[in-house]
Order: sequence, then structure tokens, then C-alpha cells
Amino acid sequence: MIRNTEDGWFEEKLYVDLVPHRYAQRLAMTEVLCRERTAFQELLIFDNPRFGRVLALDGILQTTEADECIYHEMLVHVPLLAHGTARRVLIIGGGDGGTLRQVLRHPVAAVTMVEIDQTVIDRCRAHMPMISQGAFDDPRLRLVIGDGRAFLAEKGETFDAILVDSPDPVGPGEALFTAEFYDLVRRRLATGGVMVAQDGSPFFAPREVADTHQRLRGLFADASVYLVSVPSYVAAPLAIAFASDQRGLRTIPLTTLEQRFREAGLSCRYYSPAVHQAAFLLPPMIAELLSADHVP
Ligand code: SAM
Repeated sequence: MIRNTEDGWFEEKLYVDLVPHRYAQRLAMTEVLCRERTAFQELLIFDNPRFGRVLALDGILQTTEADECIYHEMLVHVPLLAHGTARRVLIIGGGDGGTLRQVLRHPVAAVTMVEIDQTVIDRCRAHMPMISQGAFDDPRLRLVIGDGRAFLAEKGETFDAILVDSPDPVGPGEALFTAEFYDLVRRRLATGGVMVAQDGSPFFAPREVADTHQRLRGLFADASVYLVSVPSYVAAPLAIAFASDQRGLRTIPLTTLEQRFREAGLSCRYYSPAVHQAAFLLPPMIAELLSADHVP
């Protein structure tokens, strides 16, 4: 029995392992396409009238057909257009293929994707092909099935951008939020490289955002977060951590972003160069989580 799926409803008890908020969201399941326990996690794919096809892992919503473009466009185009000439990209996690699809819209030479759970990829390709749209067949992809932390710990090539498309810091995703992991990321970035990481909700998990920032600030010359509102991630806005040893990447002039956007031939539903810039504006209650004297 997959948890939280009684009576034709999927109930997501968000952050229940982190803080006792006694808070949940419920989505009606009009059809269940897939419900199984993989070697790593509980996997559920179902249809909902508003969100379309929905993927949940370990009872936590991961992506939906209706709003995946918001998360995936912002996770990918912000770092790649901030960098400007990223040719080698590494994705950690991202088994639904949405991040991969957006990366492949750029003139990249090679994309390595390290996903721990082959079953997530297989089931998403079968039941949610609208997310990856054939991206897994692209010859520029090198797919590695394994743990992202272990992959980074190996000696190997460096990357212009590393995108951590992880679940929340529970289950197999926990290893992707430690200081040791971020240090491994930094070591595998090429000169001028940039990293981003799904960073959770500043409202529900302020400690996660603050801790991640303290870790990144101790390792990189520049670190911050940017914000994105994804309706199915009810704890909106979601924070995405952004770090680089290259200062200035999060303040690229609008005209430069617009030129890069045009040259990449992109057209997006949520991302625009102006939205990119605005996403780095932090309301005081979120900015204070990043301040040096913040005590979580
Ligand atoms: N957009 C989503 C979110 O933030 O809710 C993340 C979605 S993506 C499907 C997360 C992926 O990370 C899953 O497919 C999971 O199997 C993978 N993953 C979890 N832990 C991992 C690890 N240690 N190494 C590599 N991939 C991992």
C-alpha cells in the first residue's frame, strides 16, 4: 500500500519529517497509472483534473504536467543564461526528464545526468512522455544510474553548470544537501562554472534554506537564492540555491540576458530575462534567512 492514497485522493503531508506543521494538500486521483515500490522509494503516477499527470515519490509531489514548465524552465535557463557559454552540463537527479529537456534546448555539447533510480526514468518515459519529450534519446546525453554524491566524489571531467534537481532532504535525496556534497559540486565545476539546487520552501523549511546558504557561502565566492512560484509546490515560493566562484553571475545586465535568450532561440511559458532578474529580488523575511547573523 502506497502511503497517503486513500479514498481516491493523494494527500501530501509536506515536510512532516522536518517540522510538525500539521498541514497537507490533497489532489483527487481520477486515474492511477502506476503505484509501486522501487528499490529506493515509493513511486506514484496519477491523473488529476487540474494538474494533469502527477508524479509523487515517497508521498511528496515531484512534478505535474500542468506546471512543470515553471520549475524546469527556471531551474535551467537562469543558470545557463547567466553563464552564457555553458557547453558541458551535469544534472543530478531529475528522473522525470524535464530538466534534461530544457538543458538540451541550449547549444550544449554534452549533458551528463546522474539519477539514482532507473525505475523513475522508465515509468516517467512510459506514463509522462510530455515531460521529457524524447530528451532521453538525444545523442548528447550520457545517462549514469547511480548516486549523485558518489559520482561527484570520483575524479573526472568538470562542468560549466551543475543542476541539482533533487527531491526534499529525505530518503535518497538526503545526501544531496550536505556541506560535503556541495564541496564535491564545487570541485567538479569548471572555471566560471555555476551550480543551482532545489532548496525547498522558505516558509515551511526556513532552516533548510538557511543551512544550505551557510554551507554554500562557506564554499563559493558568491551564493544566494532565487524564487519561483510553482502552484503544485504549495509552499510557494520555492527557493533555488545559486552559487559560483565567478562573482557577478546573478547580476548579468538585462540586455545581455535578452541577447543570450534570443541567440539560444528560446521561447518559454514562464521564464523571461526580466523574470530571471526579478527572481533574485528577495523579500526581507527571506533575505534574513541568508544573513550572516541568522540563527535558524
Ligand atoms: N522537481 C522535483 C522536486 O523538487 O520536487 C524533483 C524531481 S526529480 C524526479 C528528483 C529525482 O532525484 C528523483 O527521480 C530521485 O530518484 C532522484 N534522486 C534522489 N536521490 C538521489 C541521489 N542521491 N542521487 C541521484 N539522484 C537522486
